[in-house]
Amino acid sequence: GTTDPLLSVDSVDAGYGETTVLQDLSLSIDEGEIVSLVGRNGAGKTTTLRTIMGILEPTSGRVVYRGDDVSGLDATRTAARGIALVPEERRIFPELTVRENLELADHGGAPEADSLSVAEALEMFENLRERAGNAGSSLSGGEQQMLAIARALVGGADLVLLDEPTEGLAPYIVQDVMDIVERLNDRGITVLLVEQNVHVCLELADRNYVINQGEIVYEGTSAELEANEEVLDRYLGVT
Ligand code: ATP
Repeated sequence: GTTDPLLSVDSVDAGYGETTVLQDLSLSIDEGEIVSLVGRNGAGKTTTLRTIMGILEPTSGRVVYRGDDVSGLDATRTAARGIALVPEERRIFPELTVRENLELADHGGAPEADSLSVAEALEMFENLRERAGNAGSSLSGGEQQMLAIARALVGGADLVLLDEPTEGLAPYIVQDVMDIVERLNDRGITVLLVEQNVHVCLELADRNYVINQGEIVYEGTSAELEANEEVLDRYLGVT
């Protein structure tokens, strides 16, 4: 039905070998939302994204996307269904130009997705347009982050998983990246934003999940989280 979430993670346990990192983790995202997953270093945020992407298979529970069980489906198949992971390390091709990086991402994507052409991506991302013929290696950290996001859109993503997009960026670039996240959400793209920086989450997200030691310990709107000093202090080190 139309009220089903776009993505739901249902009671998932997942980890590496014998080590269980995620414990009975559940979250859900409706189409068109920006949802954050916020927590300290090592809390299990990247592991959650890898599990959604199908890189890791849950040892219990399941991941459901558009009503289909996609648990442990490999990353190529989840990408073909319209889920894109923008990893923290961005993984652009340094020796290719910005335009070539975008062209390589142009492979169809999900049938539901309103994917961007390379020309439209260069239109939307002004900094990239100016550097279309420059090598990926010449980009600043913020520009690399934008190129990684633009690649997801050209690739036809309708759910974008952003792993700490503002990590290591200067404050004025953080604002540019936040503007881009809002603009892609305005285009109808659903966003799962992973952050250690709760301020970015409070500004961008409709709802937030706080993760601690592999478990969801809190869920609330940005207004609710902002007012919850106990949660901010206890799990996010904000006072
Ligand atoms: P960060 O901000 O450092 O990215 P995170 O919240 O994303 O933190 P994860 O990367 O998901 O946390 O790590 C959660 C736990 O899983 C940590 O204890 C980490 O040491 C462990 N871990 C992560 N990757 C692996 C791996 N490949 N093999 C074994 N353990 C891992």
